[in-house]
Amino acid sequence: EKKPQEIKEIHRKADESKPAVFIPVDRLPEIQEARLRLPILAEEQVVMEAVRENECVVLCGETGSGKTTQVPQFLYEAGYASSGGIIGVTEPRRVAAISMSQRVAQEMNLSTGVVSYQIRFEGNVTEDTKIKFMTDGVLLKEIQKDFLLQKYSVIIIDEAHERSVYTDILIGLVSRIAPLRNRRGLPMKLLIMSATLRVEDFTENQRLFRTPPPVIKVEARQFPVTVHFNKRTPMEDYTGEAFHKICKIHRMLPSGGILVFLTGQAEVHSVCRRLRKAFPYRPNRERTVSANTEVSKTSRRAKKKNVCLPKISLDNYSALPVDEGDEDRQAGIDEDDGEGSDLELGDHPDSDPEEKSDPSIPLYVLPLYSLLAPEQQAKVFRPPPAGARLCVVATNVAETSLTIPGIKYVVDCGRVKKRFYDRVTGVSSFKVTWISQASANQRAGRAGRTEAGHCYRLYSSAVFGDFSLFSEAEITRRPVDDLVLQMKDLNIEKVVNFPFPTPPSGETLISAEQLLISLGALEEPPRRGRLNEMERARLSCPITPLGRAMAAFPVSPRYAKMLALGRQQGCMPYIITIVSAMTVREIFEEYDRPAGSEEESSRMAGKKARSVQMRRLWAGQGQSLLLGDLMVLLGAVGACEFAGCSQQFCEGNGLRYKAILEIRRLRGQLTNTVNSVCADAGVFVDHKMAPPTDAQVVYLRQIVLAGLGDHLARRVQNEELLDPKWRNGYKTPLLDEPVFIHPSSALHKTLPEFVVYQEIVETTKMYMRGVCAVQPEWIPKLLPQYCHFSVPEQSPAPWYCPQTGRIKCQQQSTFFRVGWKLPAVEL
Ligand code: ADP
Ligand code: MG
Repeated sequence: EKKPQEIKEIHRKADESKPAVFIPVDRLPEIQEARLRLPILAEEQVVMEAVRENECVVLCGETGSGKTTQVPQFLYEAGYASSGGIIGVTEPRRVAAISMSQRVAQEMNLSTGVVSYQIRFEGNVTEDTKIKFMTDGVLLKEIQKDFLLQKYSVIIIDEAHERSVYTDILIGLVSRIAPLRNRRGLPMKLLIMSATLRVEDFTENQRLFRTPPPVIKVEARQFPVTVHFNKRTPMEDYTGEAFHKICKIHRMLPSGGILVFLTGQAEVHSVCRRLRKAFPYRPNRERTVSANTEVSKTSRRAKKKNVCLPKISLDNYSALPVDEGDEDRQAGIDEDDGEGSDLELGDHPDSDPEEKSDPSIPLYVLPLYSLLAPEQQAKVFRPPPAGARLCVVATNVAETSLTIPGIKYVVDCGRVKKRFYDRVTGVSSFKVTWISQASANQRAGRAGRTEAGHCYRLYSSAVFGDFSLFSEAEITRRPVDDLVLQMKDLNIEKVVNFPFPTPPSGETLISAEQLLISLGALEEPPRRGRLNEMERARLSCPITPLGRAMAAFPVSPRYAKMLALGRQQGCMPYIITIVSAMTVREIFEEYDRPAGSEEESSRMAGKKARSVQMRRLWAGQGQSLLLGDLMVLLGAVGACEFAGCSQQFCEGNGLRYKAILEIRRLRGQLTNTVNSVCADAGVFVDHKMAPPTDAQVVYLRQIVLAGLGDHLARRVQNEELLDPKWRNGYKTPLLDEPVFIHPSSALHKTLPEFVVYQEIVETTKMYMRGVCAVQPEWIPKLLPQYCHFSVPEQSPAPWYCPQTGRIKCQQQSTFFRVGWKLPAVEL
């Protein structure tokens, strides 16, 4: 039962913006005790004083010092959520938004209707919400609806050091919004919180803040961490190395949790599996049986009977700024690796024989990565079962977003998986790269939270010396067309003048504007001769009505264009479905993960065969096959809806259940948006839609071509004259190298002359994903902006067309970047 909240006046000063209230919070004694141990508590006065006196405050503090969980509570208690406005906190990661809102609700003894979260499709925000955790993308969308963010009295931008794109943009926007609000007598505060001290990009940026905001540093009670470098640096098998190191630590060193940093979900699972095998957890020896043990017990039993258990949360997709991709195929790891061979732990100061731990102590192994289901992820915060040692195998989500209690040993592989885009061609790939020195030190710091700790770096000190000092901002690494469209919709015409904490390169901004112009989202600049790069960059192309409609859709501009065109011939429900499915990272289960046993691998092989068969079925024949992989998506979603969207159906047919649910939600959301953007659209959410007719499939292919026009590829002609590497290859306007249709694609055997693709991902070769066949005669009609037209010599004379009242003539067209001759058209 909640106590009625009494409002006590503490002091009132002249300044109106100062809250003069104190809202009591009824915390449990054990929570209060734990809070008092957090370094930030000692700084409450300083922080609140600074917030009162300044529009913007920057707060730096070591991970785990209590910024995310405590600062919203300080603000709440000081009345910032009790005079109309609420407290908004943005996080770059969904995991953090959910788990932090739950933690704060628990600490404050309030319901999740009061301390809530909102991520792209999910949330528990109510009318009573006072503190709202959300992803940075969610707040950006809200700015579009209400530029002044009137429902917030404070915006906290958390994890600013991560330099995620949306966080960067938000800082730029909110730095403008706060003064506007204050001028209008609707005071608003901005708090930027960062785990590192490197905040000059924010504070010293004259365009962001005319007077640098105060920086408050929270001194964390950090215990010393001894760093141990490897003598040599394993180039390939660092997961194996990590595994050995964990085994040694567990066998030789005194109690204390182990935290391991790897790069991706697949690696995390493979190391967890090996650890569980090396140190089987025998719950019957313990009275305390944890939930996790139950799972592993049942799964062992299930394996015997060859029952297919639902897999735990490997099936998800990312709408986050990606911190880990599962794109790279994981090389098979041999399970049988005599890890007992080398037990020396060198000159470790703690390896006092007296203190050696009992090797029979159970190891409680938990995975942690951003797409892990929240209930699984919450386990890392709970104490391990009595007598067991905690070992968390994580991606860099554990670097700063989440603080795991009781960690004494850190094992750091020194790498991180990042998505890279080629700035010119847009080809993306996930690459494992070295982390920065700042990241390495962050990771090491995780070991010294509760007592002195140790960090084992699986690389040499020389390699460390070569690491860059800091990680670069994400905005410098990715295309920005979606951001530019959003900004233009906010009437920020001169995007080059926007106060980005780190501005993207002029080249990136120009190619974004050009894409948007060719999609019809921005007005074309007046062509006054040739402009040089500087001049073009200074141009500000205003948004078109089509661009405004496109900006309303929460998808990238190419897909938004398809939605904007989808109204003909009843195609809208199909386009909505195709776009939703393309936005969800991967809707098909992958069966190439290293399998544990022979039995398991044969089961996997069976599932894989079934999945291939289903895809072929969904692709259909004739016209529908030409829609290619997009037809497969449509077929899969359609079939699934007819089968009631059950988990069983998904698992039986190689679909990721979570992805299917996400598509369902996105379809609903896009349908609503379509209906609100064009009032007469009248599209219904009909989950069970009939397959498209042949005529509709033709329209769908044309709409897809219009959206993906710059992703056109043509099968190479006379390939026998070329280098054999071009066999079955396609040429694209921007790449010199051949690209290929992926073997898993519906069009892999068909090899149509012209195709458009969703994206090119580089793995062993450059592969096009999401391929759809198009007719050459559509290109000049639908993509005139990419074509050159000329009147051929022997063409009939121009004629008058009575229907349109225009003079028409036959024109020869070529695709201008590559000079592909296209069929003549009447224009
Ligand atoms: P910061 O934002 O400065 O990195 P946090 O506010 O996230 O710090 O964490 C403060 C403390 O709260 C840490 O000791 C962390 O372990 C603890 N904590 C955070 N979330 C939970 C949770 N869900 N359950 C238990 N403890 C938690
Ligand atoms: Mg935090």
